Parts: sequence; C-alpha cells; structure tokens
Amino acid sequence: MTYMPSLRSREIKIAPQTPISKISPFWEGLKEGKVLATKCRKCGKLYFPPTPDCPECLSSEMEWVQLSCEAEIETFTHVVVRPASFQHHKPYTVAIGKLKEGVKVLAWLTGFKLSEIKVGMKVKLAAKTTPEGELTYEFVPP
Ligand SMILES: [Zn+2]
Repeated sequence: MTYMPSLRSREIKIAPQTPISKISPFWEGLKEGKVLATKCRKCGKLYFPPTPDCPECLSSEMEWVQLSCEAEIETFTHVVVRPASFQHHKPYTVAIGKLKEGVKVLAWLTGFKLSEIKVGMKVKLAAKTTPEGELTYEFVPP
C-alpha cells in the first residue's frame, strides 16, 4: 500500500493504484501552481504523493493540504545514462528533498549547475507545466 519512491524509478508519477477521481485535486493544484498533499483527518499523518486512504490507521477521511514547498536536499543523483523513455532529455538531476512538513519528495532538480548542488541545501518545490503541457513538479532554486 505504501508507495516508496526510489531513485531507480525515473518517471515521477503518483501511485498507480490511486483512483484518478480521488486524486484530481492534485492535478488541479499543479495547474494553479500549488503542490498538494493529503493529510489524514484521524491521525494527522501527511502523505506525498497523495494517497486516498491512510495506510497508518486505514481511514479514508483525508483532506488536501498545500505544502509550504520549502525543502532541503537529502540526496541526489545526476543521471547521464537515461532510460529509453528519457533519451530525448539532456542528462538530468533527480533529488529527494525533505519538506518543512516532514514529507520526502522525489523530483527533478533544475536551475543549478551540477557543481552547486549540495546535500542539505535549501530548494523550493515548484509546480510546473512542461512545454508538452504535462503537469509536474520539480525542485528549483529558492
Ligand atoms: Zn491516519
């Protein structure tokens, strides 16, 4: 049930078992430039990527909360050998950032020179619409 992102999963998507109807506020939020997580009304645990149910206490009473987007880089990797589906991209950097709220987010890290990237540095999690019109989120300079 718990979806743990790892650096081996290159494509950043939310848990495929999540019903799309329950998750659409997430995409609506990205369109408006907000990154949303779900929070359990019962135990208060925060989930990102958002989940429709709380794996902790099995409650379905979840509410949408906007993340502060203030993050600190915990780890990162620069990907030079891209998977087949990402061959059209230049080498890119993927990072795990810990948000002020305590949740960890796996996302691309852009806007920095590779030599500038340090573990522990402050970044901002930002909603983004790609030139292809896809909604996503990434870490950018604060
Ligand atoms: Zn809960």
